[in-house]
Amino acid sequence: MVLKTYDLGEADKILVLFTRESGRVSAVAKGSRKPKSKSAGGAQAFGHNVYLLHKGRNLDIVAQYEIVRQYRQIRGDLDRLAYASYAADLVFHTSHERDPAPEVFDLLVWILDTIEGGRNPEVAAHVFELRLMESLGYRPQLGRCVICGREVSGPARFSSEAGGMLCANCRQGAAGARQVSEGTLRSLRLLQDSDDAGWQSLGLAGEVLREVRAVLDDYITYRLEKRPASLEFLRSLNESK
Ligand SMILES: [Zn+2]
Repeated sequence: MVLKTYDLGEADKILVLFTRESGRVSAVAKGSRKPKSKSAGGAQAFGHNVYLLHKGRNLDIVAQYEIVRQYRQIRGDLDRLAYASYAADLVFHTSHERDPAPEVFDLLVWILDTIEGGRNPEVAAHVFELRLMESLGYRPQLGRCVICGREVSGPARFSSEAGGMLCANCRQGAAGARQVSEGTLRSLRLLQDSDDAGWQSLGLAGEVLREVRAVLDDYITYRLEKRPASLEFLRSLNESK
């Protein structure tokens, strides 16, 4: 999967690939910016391709490629493009060179296929955030209080630092914990644990949508130790509607 591309010199591109077998790998696609280049198709963002790479002195070189899937709907639509860029950016920030994470690879294919298919990209992106965090070992605890283990219901507080919900007793003194309504808590749990049929029937709107966004934006920013630029762009796009 092509996560990012950078221009190199006059005619080449550096591709940052996320591979199922080897994790993140950077490679040069020579001549891919020349008009009528044969390698252009394998050098486009969000492509799913099979590559044959030659070992280079610094970076590997793309010798051949075969297209598995091109995401034409994503490339042709600003909204879908913004969600896909955010998903690719999250994988970029949480992956490492030559460190395989096949589960994350499969998740990335899943989210791009889902966005390409036109299903609600915002809800899908929240499912992706939760599944990605879980596969990295950062599943937020939404059912029980992270501190005392008591079941949490009704309006409650979410703490990114503590890694989940806080009950009424434990929230005292927890600075920065975010108040969420009962509906938001229910939606977050559904996003976290439902299969594809489950979340697709979930309609997020109004205050619940705003709270779900706020909780997950907070949590992702806390885990990445920065707010990704792609998330900033996505939110400014959301607000302009
Ligand atoms: Zn508690």
